[in-house]
Amino acid sequence: MINLTEINVTNIKGVGEKKAKLLKKLKIETIYDLLTYYPRDYENFSEVFKIRDKINSKGLFKVKVTSKPVVRLIRSNLKLTTINVKDDSMGAVLVFFNLPYFMQSYFTRGNELYIYGEVSKKNYEIQITNAEIVNNSKIGTFSPIYGLTAGLSNNEITKITKNALSSFSEKIIDYLPGQVKDKSILMDKYEAIENIHFPKSIDLYNSARRRLAFDEIFFLQGVLKSQNFRSDSKNSKNILIDNDLLNNFYENLPFSLTGAQKRVLDEIFIDFKNQNMNRLVQGDVGSGKTVIAAICLLIASINGYQSAIMAPTEILAKQHFETIKKFLKSYDLDIRLLIGSTLNKEKQTIYDDLESGKIDIIVGTHSLIQESVVFNNLVLTIVDEQHRFGVEQRKALYNKGDHPYNLSMTATPIPRSLALILYSEMDISVIDELPPGRQEIDTSVINYSYIDRLDKFVIKQIKEGRQVYVVCPLIDESDMPLKSLEEVFSHYNSSTFLDENISTCALHGKMKSSEKEKIMQDFKDRKYDVIVSTTVIEVGVDVPNANLMIIYDADRFGLAQLHQLRGRVGRGKHKSYCVLITNSNSEVSYNRLQIMKESTDGFFIANKDLEFRGQGELLGTRQHGINDLYFIDLNKDLKMIKYIQDNYDRIFNEIKRYDELENEYKTSISYLTRDSK
Ligand code: ADP
Ligand code: MG
Repeated sequence: MINLTEINVTNIKGVGEKKAKLLKKLKIETIYDLLTYYPRDYENFSEVFKIRDKINSKGLFKVKVTSKPVVRLIRSNLKLTTINVKDDSMGAVLVFFNLPYFMQSYFTRGNELYIYGEVSKKNYEIQITNAEIVNNSKIGTFSPIYGLTAGLSNNEITKITKNALSSFSEKIIDYLPGQVKDKSILMDKYEAIENIHFPKSIDLYNSARRRLAFDEIFFLQGVLKSQNFRSDSKNSKNILIDNDLLNNFYENLPFSLTGAQKRVLDEIFIDFKNQNMNRLVQGDVGSGKTVIAAICLLIASINGYQSAIMAPTEILAKQHFETIKKFLKSYDLDIRLLIGSTLNKEKQTIYDDLESGKIDIIVGTHSLIQESVVFNNLVLTIVDEQHRFGVEQRKALYNKGDHPYNLSMTATPIPRSLALILYSEMDISVIDELPPGRQEIDTSVINYSYIDRLDKFVIKQIKEGRQVYVVCPLIDESDMPLKSLEEVFSHYNSSTFLDENISTCALHGKMKSSEKEKIMQDFKDRKYDVIVSTTVIEVGVDVPNANLMIIYDADRFGLAQLHQLRGRVGRGKHKSYCVLITNSNSEVSYNRLQIMKESTDGFFIANKDLEFRGQGELLGTRQHGINDLYFIDLNKDLKMIKYIQDNYDRIFNEIKRYDELENEYKTSISYLTRDSK
C-alpha cells in the first residue's frame, strides 16, 4: 500500500485543486492518507427499525407521509419545517431546520420513504431530528461518517473515497502471504480497506476490523522489537544471593513483606540466577515497590557492583534517596543523589566517584544519563515510573553498563492485553496486594450544591493540621461549564478561607518543571495548606500529612487516573478522604464514579475503565504512539495479540515481500512515533 503514499489525491476522479486543498485541512494529501482516513462511525442502513423501538436513539425507518410540510420562521435566518409521518409502530413528527425548498416535494401526503434520523420524545410528541432521506440504493448497507471540515461534506468524502478505491484497487498490495492469512483467518487487505469504509454487512465489518487490527499489532510488535535494547543473549554479570544477608535485612525491616512482594522478589531472584533480567514490576500506588528496589540495590552492591535508580522528577529522586538510605543504613554503602539542581562542584565529585567505582548506588533523575556520567561497573539499572521515560532515555541509562540487569517499575495498573502490547519484551511481575492495615480512603461523590459543606470540612481538616489537594481538569476557562484552575484557585483564596488563615498554592502543567518542583516541595514542607492543581501532581510524591483529595469535574477523568490521584492521600496515619465533585447528571458517569467508592483495587478499576470509557482513554494516556492504535480492541483481540507475539518471527519469515513490508513499517513507524515526546 505504501506506493499510494506517493500518489497525490488530485489523481482521483473529481478531485481538483480546490478539493485537494480542503482535504489537506484533514491532513489528507495522498491516496494512502485518504484510504486510511477511516470513518469515525457508520449509519446503519442495513436494517429497517420501528420508530417505537428507537426512542432516544438513531435508526433507519420506512415512513409514510401523513401531512403537508408546515414551515415556520423562528428567526430571520432560521426556518423550521415539520411533517407528520408514521410507520407500523407509531406516528412521529419530522423536524427540519432550514430544509431546502426543493426538498419539500419529497413530502407529499401518502408518499413512502426511507428516513434515517434520531428519535426523541419532546413536549409529548415523538420527533425525528437530524433526518436524512435515504436513497433506495443505500438500503442494506452501512454508510460511513467521516470527520469533516468546512466546505467538504460527508457525501463528498464518501464519493472521493469510493472513486479512489475503484481506481487504485490494484495498488493495494497485501504484504501478508496467503498461508498466514489462511492460518489466522484474515481478510485480504483490499477487502479490509473496502469494508472498513463501506461495510457490506456487520460480519464483513468485523472481519475488516480484525484484519486491520492484526496489521496494527504486527507493526507495533515490529517497532517495539526494534526499540528493544535488551534482547541480547549475552549474560549479565554473575550475582550471588546471600541468604543470611537477606534474612538479616528482613529482620530489621519495620514490617514484614507481603506475599505479593515475596513472590515478585522470587521472580527477580530467578532473573539474577539466569543472569538476565528485563522485568517490569507493576504495583498499585503504595504496594511497596521501593523496598523491592532497595533489596535489589543491596544485592548488587554486596556483590561489588554499582547500580543506579532513575526517577522522573527531582522530588521523587530525593524521596527515593532518603528512603533507600534508610532501608540500607546498616550496610556500609556509598549512596549518592544526582539531580539537575545538584551543585556543580558536587556533581564533579560524583562523576569522579562513579567512574572510580567509589559510589555503590546512585539515585537520580535524567541527570544520570548525561554524557559526563561514566560508571565503573554498572550492573543493575532501575527505572521508576518507567512509562514517564522514553525508550531513548531508558536505553541511555542501560548503555552505561555492561549488559546490566534491568528492573522497571510502574504504578499504572493496566489491563493484561494492553500490558502485553506495550511491554511485550519484558517479563511482568505484579504486586497485587497492598500491605496490611492500609486505611481505606473514604470516597464520596457529590455535586456542586454541597460545596459549602465541603468548604467547612476542608477548614476543619486544616484546623486539625492536615493539608488538602484540589485537582481540576483545566487551566483556562475556554471550555465552560467546567471549573477552571483559576476559578477554583480563587475560591480557595476567598474570604471563607483567608479569614481562617488558610494559604493556597497553584500548580499546572504550563509551569516550568523547576517551578513545579519548588511548589510541590513547599507543599510537602507545609508552607501551604491547600494545593490546587491540574493532574500534574499525579506522580508518586509522598505528602503523608495531606489527607483530603478533592477532584472537580471528576467525570472528566478516567477511573484509572482518579485512582492514581486518590492514591496521593492515605499515606500517613490520618484518616483520609477523597471527594469527587461532578455536575454531570448522566447515569453513566454517576455509575462510573460509584466504582471509585466501591473499589480500591487498581486493576479492577482499570478494567472497569476499559468497559466504561473504551480503550481510547486508556491508550491515549500511555506511551507515545499507542494513541494511534485505532482498530485494536483490547477486549476482543487478546488472543490475536498473544498469537502475534508468540509467532512474530515465524510470520515475519514467511513474508516474501520484504520490500513491501519494510515500507509499511516505515510508514507505520513514522505514524506510530509522530507527536512523540
Ligand atoms: P509504591 O509501590 O507506591 O512505590 P512505596 O514503596 O512507596 O509504594 O510504599 C508505600 C509505603 O508502604 C511505604 O511507607 C513503605 O515503607 C510501606 N510498605 C512497603 N511494604 C510494606 C509492607 N510489606 N508492610 C507494611 N508497609 C509496607
Ligand atoms: Mg513509588
